[in-house]
Amino acid sequence: MRAMKRIAVVLLFLAAAASAQTLDQMIDREMPSLLSTYKQLHAAPELSQQEKKTSEFVAAQLRALGYDVTYPFGNYSDQQYSCYGIVAVMKNGAGPMVLVRSDMDALPVEEQTGLAYSSQTKGVMHACGHDVHMTTLLGTAKMLASMKSKWHGTVMLIGQPAEEVVKGADAMLRAGLYEKFGQPDFAIALHDHSSLPAGQIGWFGGWFMASADSLNVTIRGMGGHGASPQSTKDPVVMAAEFVVALQTIVSRETSPLDSAVVTVGSIHGGTKRNIIPDEVQLLMTVRTYKPEVRKRVLASIERIAKAVALSAGVPDDRAPKVELLANESVDATWNDPALAERLGKALTRDMGAANVVKMDPLMVSEDFGRFALDRKIPAVMLNVGTIDPARIASGERLPSLHSSQFVPVPEPTLRGGIKGMTLAVLELLK
Ligand SMILES: [Zn+2]
Ligand SMILES: [Zn+2]
Repeated sequence: MRAMKRIAVVLLFLAAAASAQTLDQMIDREMPSLLSTYKQLHAAPELSQQEKKTSEFVAAQLRALGYDVTYPFGNYSDQQYSCYGIVAVMKNGAGPMVLVRSDMDALPVEEQTGLAYSSQTKGVMHACGHDVHMTTLLGTAKMLASMKSKWHGTVMLIGQPAEEVVKGADAMLRAGLYEKFGQPDFAIALHDHSSLPAGQIGWFGGWFMASADSLNVTIRGMGGHGASPQSTKDPVVMAAEFVVALQTIVSRETSPLDSAVVTVGSIHGGTKRNIIPDEVQLLMTVRTYKPEVRKRVLASIERIAKAVALSAGVPDDRAPKVELLANESVDATWNDPALAERLGKALTRDMGAANVVKMDPLMVSEDFGRFALDRKIPAVMLNVGTIDPARIASGERLPSLHSSQFVPVPEPTLRGGIKGMTLAVLELLK
């Protein structure tokens, strides 16, 4: 009996090894065309809410693979733009439904990588690697369509526009994504990572990506001649004090065990060296995980702005304006711990421990979490490394996501992404 059991275990192991090998071989066969798809997408980036050609291409590819494609899908709250969302469904008998999401938009960055397949669109670049995500989605779609004997249930592939402005997921949900196509049992997504080795999958359970809040702060003074400061209230000096005072929100008001970032990314005021301007404008981003920390940090920014103006003697009707841009803010991303653990284990088993790592959470933000409907649907965002291990070992400063120098290594990044996402879906629909 013991021997029988042992034989059964060995057979199971061999079967798992054989199927993993088959997946690698299948990816091998597709790799040349996937690489050319990736380079084509990289060379033709489109900004958020303008992903027309990109989405047309992805939708056509998914249709050709046998998916039931609805496109374009989604409604923005501001009707100014069309929403180029894609919903591609493949039903394969009874079983759970898994949503797999890729974003599609690029950034206003002038590419400086010198790659042969660099962006052909001036001032626009796939600097966040959403071209990696789309190619991974197409590769995963191909694998799942060719392995229908290995899974049961429904796959819902999402091509999401406007992630960088955190509007796309909302637009698709607002258009009735779940009412029309059913509510998934699980939602997963993949983002590339700018310091993990190419092809390695990273996973984490819990708060995984921060909330983001966009603020416009206007410090208002009373302008005048640069040689007569006594007859003005100088907003440049107040803005300088404000920026310095902000630094204590994280260092003195926030528990060292909580994460928070307060960044002033843009500051503008004045026209000429000898004129004290009427106002200075600051554009800020705030990142936190816990809702209570988020609330307190935002309140502190407002308090400090008002206090700086008060101490400078600015009259009440010229008090600073602190404006929170509701449609550019997004909640923190929660990776369902049980689902993350399950996928982490399955991928470690199927891809090998060297190719899967439990990673640290990130302070960047995402709107993928919206698909989870406030934690109603277990959702996990995985990461895939993009960097040549030799570069990591060299200790050089690696460009981050959104950098004009960000260069993912296409292979094995795509292989890791496609393998990881395919195996994740197979685990959930086995
Ligand atoms: Zn990004
Ligand atoms: Zn991104």
